[in-house]
Amino acid sequence: MPRYDLHCHSTHSDGLLAPAAVVARAKERGVDVLALTDHDELSGLAEARDAALAAGITLICGSELSVTWAGITIHIVALGIDPTNAALSEGLAGIRSGRSTRARRIGDALADAGIHGAYEGAMRYVTSERLVSRTHFARYLVEAGHAREMKDVFERYLTPGKPGHVTHDWATLSQAVGWIHAAGGQAVIAHPGRYPVNARGLRRLLTEFRDTGGDAIEVVSPSHARKQYAEFATHARILGLRGSCGSDWHGPGESWMELGALPDMPVGVVPVWKDW
Ligand code: AMP
Ligand code: MN
Ligand code: MN
Ligand code: MN
Repeated sequence: MPRYDLHCHSTHSDGLLAPAAVVARAKERGVDVLALTDHDELSGLAEARDAALAAGITLICGSELSVTWAGITIHIVALGIDPTNAALSEGLAGIRSGRSTRARRIGDALADAGIHGAYEGAMRYVTSERLVSRTHFARYLVEAGHAREMKDVFERYLTPGKPGHVTHDWATLSQAVGWIHAAGGQAVIAHPGRYPVNARGLRRLLTEFRDTGGDAIEVVSPSHARKQYAEFATHARILGLRGSCGSDWHGPGESWMELGALPDMPVGVVPVWKDW
């Protein structure tokens, strides 16, 4: 059985390693099929594809799209897309364009809370001028001593209700799924256990995702406790969706799960790669 890891990040979004280095590390860790899924971005795929070819592993072209659904942010992983597709590229450019003004607003909100210079600080961590994310703020806030580790920064400053959080409208669910399908890819709802919804809200989200044409649920993810694998496997079965798995790896020392170190998908789930 090939080893799949279908969710990770590079310096083209908020990861710490360049695409070729991510691929090299995946190869070292025994990954056979890797999807690079930078946030709202495709620009790292060419480098990753060359590196994968040289390393002898399979690279799946991907991205992780930011979506606003019922007032909350959700992430849709795209797998197997054509990176030259215009509809997807333009859609992603639209999502990215809001990020710079949002970053200024995050900086202003933190300044109002007494933390000055966070925008400039975050910009020092940005590795692609096309993409600034909360992760870059988080790295700066840790450096500046406002929190000990990344997890605490989000909980204290960067999530809804906290001083550095600003609301933002991303793409809609149907736009995201539409662009992914236009580019020949599959749409996977990322880490569904992480969204601030109750059981009913979660069913509503997953059902709407399926009805919009969504293809798969990310069942195995570091955002999920072991028992949630079985829960999301059941959701996938009931809704007729496939299952995916990904480490959501961002960099050495920053991730809960190493590249490729994924537990097996629960039995009974049709894997997203079934027809690849
Ligand atoms: P953004 O797309 O700019 O809102 O940033 C979202 C990114 O922040 C996610 O992709 C994660 O990399 C990171 N993130 C969000 N919540 C947490 C958390 N609790 N701990 C660590 N990283 C987080
Ligand atoms: Mn991220
Ligand atoms: Mn995500
Ligand atoms: Mn991710």
